[in-house]
Amino acid sequence: MSYTLPEFLAHAVALETEAAERYLELADMMEAHRNDEVAALFRDMVHFSQMHRDEIKARVGDIVLPKLKSWEYRWSSPPEVGGEEAFDYLLDPWHALRYARENEVRAMEYYSSVGMQSTDPEVRRLASEFASEEADHVDALDKWLARTQRPSTTWDADPEIEPVRQHRS
Ligand code: ZN
Repeated sequence: MSYTLPEFLAHAVALETEAAERYLELADMMEAHRNDEVAALFRDMVHFSQMHRDEIKARVGDIVLPKLKSWEYRWSSPPEVGGEEAFDYLLDPWHALRYARENEVRAMEYYSSVGMQSTDPEVRRLASEFASEEADHVDALDKWLARTQRPSTTWDADPEIEPVRQHRS
C-alpha cells in the first residue's frame, strides 16, 4: 500500500468520518438503553474522531483529494449477525465495545501497514503517528471491556473467552 500523500489523506479523512458516525450511532444505542457510562465513552470517541478528522483536514489544506470507493474505509459489520439482529446484538455494551475495538484494530493495522510500506516519507510519518493514536483508542476500549460484564448468554457461542470455572466445596 504505497499511497501518494493525497491518496493517504483522503483515506484518513474518510476513516475518521466513518468512525465518528459509527460511534455516534453506538452512543445513541447505549443511551436508549440507559447505559450512560458507555454512551459517554462513545461520545468521547465521536469527539476524538472529529478532532482528528479536523486536524487531518487542516493538513490537507489546498491539496485536492481523490474520491474513494466506500469499501476502502467502511467499518466491518458486527460478526455473525446482520440486519435487525445486528442492532439487538450491539445494544449489549460488551458487544458494542468489542465491535468498536475490532474496528479500531483495523484502523490501527491499516495505518501501521501504510506507515511501513509507503515510499513517501510524509505519508510514512503521518501514518505512524495515526497508528499510535488508534493504539490508544484500542487501549481505552480494552480498559472498558475489562470492567464491563460479558453477557452470559453468549458464552456457549463464543468459547474463546470461556471463563475458567473453579468448583470449590
Ligand atoms: Zn480510533
